[in-house]
Amino acid sequence: EAVINRIAAGEIIRRPSNALKELLENSLDAGATNIQILIKDGGLKLLQIQDNGHGIRKEDMAIVCERFTTSKIETFEDLSCISTYGFRGEALASITHVAHVTITTKTADSNCAYRAHYADSKLVPPKPGVSAEPKPCAGNTGTLITAEDLFYNAPTRREALKNTSEEYKRILDVVNRYAIYNAGQGSNIADVSTLANASTLDNIRQIYGSSTASELLELKKDVEGLDLKVKGYVSNANYNVKKIVFLLFINHRAVESLALKKTIESVYATFLPKGTHPFIYIGLEMKPQNIDVNVHTTKREVRFLYEDEIIAAIGDVIHERLAGADT
Ligand code: ADP
Ligand code: MG
Repeated sequence: EAVINRIAAGEIIRRPSNALKELLENSLDAGATNIQILIKDGGLKLLQIQDNGHGIRKEDMAIVCERFTTSKIETFEDLSCISTYGFRGEALASITHVAHVTITTKTADSNCAYRAHYADSKLVPPKPGVSAEPKPCAGNTGTLITAEDLFYNAPTRREALKNTSEEYKRILDVVNRYAIYNAGQGSNIADVSTLANASTLDNIRQIYGSSTASELLELKKDVEGLDLKVKGYVSNANYNVKKIVFLLFINHRAVESLALKKTIESVYATFLPKGTHPFIYIGLEMKPQNIDVNVHTTKREVRFLYEDEIIAAIGDVIHERLAGADT
């Protein structure tokens, strides 16, 4: 059973950045406004994330890392949207199958924090001969999670990930996306003090440079009939760099959509010189029932219902903006 669990976990957590993304989303779900991340060896030696969210109650600590444990399905209707976030209650469980996990957490109404260690979904003692029960300790309200020695039990996977600077780059990419998306809400995700309380544009400037930020057009549009809200910033026709930046969020989650990316690139093709590429940051809100994120477990490649219509509508919004700004 342990082997099967490890293989299943490896499908969800393929590399350190997948684990970090799950942990970061959990912190945001817990209402955190300050999140600090520490990485060693591209996340393979250590992934640590500390948040000031609502914490985990002591009595829930024994089960949080079990498969399908989630506090996020409140009503039956929510079950119909289950695919929206994918893997309900599977992220923490998966991480404990491929790393040594420690959780230190405190809720606002508790006098102290509690710390517990996990392996293969279960509480484990920190060392032989002591209790596995959560131990009281000092701490602020919020949660600190460490995942150490990622893929210690999967040598082939570990070997494939030995380029730690590549893994670090992928983690930074995830963190940067969320820093931009959560800007202006007091979030301090990147542990860079200058990002705190900054606007979306400030964070784009910080991460992608002021020359990028100065060439952006704001998008803000409700597309009627499709129940679609589009917001974001996209580069204008003067912006021509060699590498495309495509940051996509759907219902507050960073996702990928190759089909949408292609459509937007083709819209830009008529505005930009050949061989140059746009900067695109888009946040979409749509009915959860219309999205399926489970096409590819780790890349978060999404598919939508009414996909052609939705993609065409977004292409039109950008085309309009580019055409309007040109004159
Ligand atoms: P999901 O996010 O789909 O519910 P996870 O495996 O990612 O599943 O997390 C399991 C549960 O653990 C969450 O539903 C939540 O109750 C709790 N949890 C995880 N991380 C945090 C955190 N940083 N702060 C508070 N609660 C958390
Ligand atoms: Mg989660």
